[in-house]
Amino acid sequence: MKAIRKTAPRPGALEWAEVHVPECGPGEVLVRVRAASLCGTDAHIYSWDGSVRDMILTTTDNFRRPRIIGHEFCGEVVEVGREVRGAGPGAAEPIRPGQLVSAESHIVCGACYQCRRGQFQVCTGERIIGVHRDGGFAEYIAIPAACIWVNDPALVPVEVACVEEPFGNAVHAATEYDPRGQCVVIFGVGPIGLFSIIVASAFGAERIIAVDTAAFRLDLASRVGAHTTLLTAPAPGGDAPGRARERERIVGLIRDAAAPFEADLVFEMSGHTDAIDTALRAARRGGKVLLFGLPKVQAVTLERYAEDVIFGGVTLKGIVGRKIYDTWIRTRELVSRPDVRTRIRAVITDTIPFARYEEAFQKMIGRESGKVVLRVSQD
Ligand SMILES: [Zn+2]
Ligand SMILES: [Zn+2]
Repeated sequence: MKAIRKTAPRPGALEWAEVHVPECGPGEVLVRVRAASLCGTDAHIYSWDGSVRDMILTTTDNFRRPRIIGHEFCGEVVEVGREVRGAGPGAAEPIRPGQLVSAESHIVCGACYQCRRGQFQVCTGERIIGVHRDGGFAEYIAIPAACIWVNDPALVPVEVACVEEPFGNAVHAATEYDPRGQCVVIFGVGPIGLFSIIVASAFGAERIIAVDTAAFRLDLASRVGAHTTLLTAPAPGGDAPGRARERERIVGLIRDAAAPFEADLVFEMSGHTDAIDTALRAARRGGKVLLFGLPKVQAVTLERYAEDVIFGGVTLKGIVGRKIYDTWIRTRELVSRPDVRTRIRAVITDTIPFARYEEAFQKMIGRESGKVVLRVSQD
């Protein structure tokens, strides 16, 4: 089979390789991949920068052996391994050949303190598909049965199924606090920010304001449900006073757009250090700030920590992964709604064959895109 592999710990270093179809081990399911999507994590693996690189350096063999990347995908079950729990009678959702399935990309240990507390999304023993074991940018992938999510093919088309995992990030973020009747401000409307608009809107947010440096993405944001879009200057002019002025300007515009509400829920999904400060400034007193965007640097300094966080009585909440399986169950509810599926499809701006993955990465990094999907050629 063909697969996209990372072959060395440096920028680029991807190859379109001919490899063996993986074996379906005990407790595993073999999936014939139909489509996959590019994640910010894949872009970091490709560009070899930021916190993802540091995580890989400390938890893997650092691509000494080539690794098939990719963790957002869907496909058909072709083989169910021995000892698969969830395949037999009595299972809530039996796994059978032919089903269209998506995958939870985090393989959790089930034994650590967090897992025993039911917080699987922060498992300390987790392994990530496409990072710690071979991923889904391939024609076939074998994954633990616990990662399988079975879709109803009558309701969920392939292009929606292949983005359910990243959509789940947005479901997790936008349902952590009930968005009903709230004013939601989203910094950074890449795919997850755009998905968050869809989820917040579906769950009854009263006002949604999107902030980004890319006009292309803001345009998508209004198409999927943002009421107001605000274009901010990209990495404004180096000097601290200039950046502070830009922050004040954006905070003022948010205040005007929110009235008579104030920014109840603020999602920081850009990972830009200026945006983190602006998000904290924008949140109302007593508001909540959800932090999802990964900065390219290790250390982040908050300009007005005491005023914005302590005196503001603001709640900060880090969002990682999806709640297993609560987020998936909510996701299923959402994707069964035709209006939600239409909006998810609007976020998918590019569908590119697997073999042209370089083009797909460039498209994504260039930010003139929403979600970029890789399609296995159907023969
Ligand atoms: Zn991802
Ligand atoms: Zn665990």
